[in-house]
Formats: sequence, C-alpha cells, structure tokens
Amino acid sequence: MNKNTFHWLRLSLCAMIGSAVLNLSGCGTVLPSSSQEPIQRTDFLLNTFVDIKLYDTTDITILDDAMALCKDLESRFSRTLEDSEIYHLNHRAPDKQTVELSEQTAELLSLALNYCERSDGAFDITIEPASSLWDFTSGNKVLPDPVQLEDAVSKIGYESLLVEDQTLTFLTPDTTLDLGAIAKGYIADEIKELLVDRGVKSAIINLGGNVLCIGSKPNGDPFKIGLKKPFASESETFAIANIADMSVVTSGVYERYFELDGNHYHHILNPATGYPYENDLLSVTILSGSSADGDGLSTTCFSLGLEAGMELINSLDGIYGCFIDEDYNIYYSEGMEDFLNEA
Ligand code: ADP
Ligand code: MG
Repeated sequence: MNKNTFHWLRLSLCAMIGSAVLNLSGCGTVLPSSSQEPIQRTDFLLNTFVDIKLYDTTDITILDDAMALCKDLESRFSRTLEDSEIYHLNHRAPDKQTVELSEQTAELLSLALNYCERSDGAFDITIEPASSLWDFTSGNKVLPDPVQLEDAVSKIGYESLLVEDQTLTFLTPDTTLDLGAIAKGYIADEIKELLVDRGVKSAIINLGGNVLCIGSKPNGDPFKIGLKKPFASESETFAIANIADMSVVTSGVYERYFELDGNHYHHILNPATGYPYENDLLSVTILSGSSADGDGLSTTCFSLGLEAGMELINSLDGIYGCFIDEDYNIYYSEGMEDFLNEA
C-alpha cells in the first residue's frame, strides 16, 4: 500500500456513555461518585488497556475476578508468554504431535477453525511462522528477511490441524498457532459469562477497542458506542452504534503498523505471501452477539476484502458490519444502519 495513495484515517472504537468518552489513559479502579455512576477498573493486559464498567453493582470483587479471568485466559492463549498453553504447543517436541487442550483452548480453536474454513484460508490461525517474523510493536521498522518469510509461508495451513473434542493433532511437525485474531473476542465472551453469573445485567467490557455490552444502560437505553475517526479529534466519530447485549469489534490497517520507504505495513497478513494484505481497505467493523464471532469475522472479512467479506456478513444471521476503504467510502451490510446514528 503506497503512502501517497491515501491519507490516513486512523479509526478506532471508543465507548461513549452519554457524553462521557471512555478514558483509557491509566490503570486502576474507579469507585462511583453517585449511585448513577458505574464502578470501573482498567488494567494493562493482552498488550492493551482492558476496561470493565459495571452499572448495577458496587461489588468491586466482581471486577477483581473478571480481571483475574482475563489474565488467566491470556496466559493460555498468548503466543509470546513463555508459559502459555499456546507457547508450549508451538514449542512441542518433534515426536509429540498430539496434545490435550484445556477446555477453553479447544473451544477457541474450534471457533477459529470455522473462520479458517469459511474464508478458505484467507484467515488462518497457523499464520504464526510469518506473524512472529514481523514486529509491529517495538517501533523498530524492520522488514522480515524475504527468505525466512518464504520458508514461514510454506509452514502455514490450517488443514494441518485436527481437533477432536479436547485433542489437537498437528498433521505436520512445523505447524504453529497464533490466535491473536480471535482471542480477545473469546475472552470478552468469557468475561461476560462470569459477570452474568455474578448477577450483572448492565456492563461494558472493552478489551482495547474490542467492546462487548451486557444488557443496556440502567435506564433501559442502549449503550452508545462511538465508531471513531482517530485522524480527526479524539471525540470525532463517523457514526454512533446503539446496542444492547452486543459486541462491536474493528480490524484495520491503523492498529499495529509501521511505515517504511513510503509503504505502510500493517498486522493483518496474507497467508499466501506473509506480507500484509493490500486490498484498499482501512477497516472492517462487526456488530454481533458473540464477541468471538465479531473478532473472528472482523479479521476474516478484512482478509477476504470488501466484496467477499460483505457477502459473508450478509449470509449470516444477527451479524452486521461496515467496511471503510482508502477513499473513506463507508459500505454498510444489510441492517447495519438500523443500529447507527450519524455522528
Ligand atoms: P487486533 O489484534 O488489533 O484485535 P485483529 O483481530 O484483526 O486485530 O487480529 C490481528 C492479529 O491476527 C495479528 O496481530 C496476528 O496475530 C493475527 N493475524 C494476522 N494475519 C492473520 C490472518 N490472515 N489470519 C488469522 N490471523 C491473522
Ligand atoms: Mg479479529
């Protein structure tokens, strides 16, 4: 993608409740100043700010438990934490190609494989050999070695994974996993389940822009989730989504990227080349009931591109979305606009 071909619209999600814009600038617990205010906690987990707001309880132990669950799931699904379940799978002994998974990892893998199949491998959780050669976080603008990248690409292929109940068999020895495209959504769903079990009926879970609401605002109004244009001022949005009991997730080229020699390199990679997709899209936003579906689909639809991605969304019940291309055209799926107010 050439820098000259478009101007950057840095798009991200920002949860807005009434006129209050979510502030993720620091970690900590916020206690309510009045009975109308939520209790809130922000921690740095999953390489991002995790923010949870509960509107109908003052029990901060629920927040503690929700964050502990988030940390526990991160320690299973991370590909970089050296003690994680996925790290151990990726660094298994050559003679150990069949492994027992935890219940959650088995469930997440099955959900993820569904999107690998639906996209015919445009979304592929065995992208790890390629994704680990890229560094979009440290600020060092270094391209992977082309020979190493080519070798990595030859190892990618979700067809090499066989999941039966909680047993995973790798059909090829050098297949490895990166669940980064769907783990946050799954973790949001798990946090929601914990909160609902603890009696919470009104809450917002925000895992670095991966937003999942429980119920609606205490007064019955839907939550308002701003779909933000970061190139504009902090609070400027292109639309406001009014949602209850739904998830809002965006994948885009502006989240993790670097620019080098006039090219823009972002973190959604084409499994066929190991390089970032170049498909004229800036972002895909998905509204769905389950956040794992939203996260899986936002990356899948970005990978598929506008036409095939839109077709996929429109074929699914209860899933809505919008695509933004590099000319800032916005394309809505059937029914998506019913949730939106213009910003
Ligand atoms: P975010 O991490 O910002 O939530 P996404 O959900 O779109 O963004 O996931 C991007 C991540 O998914 C990458 O950082 C990488 O770990 C992984 N990934 C990159 N390309 C692919 C792909 N084609 N299929 C599946 N996962 C991918
Ligand atoms: Mg995703």
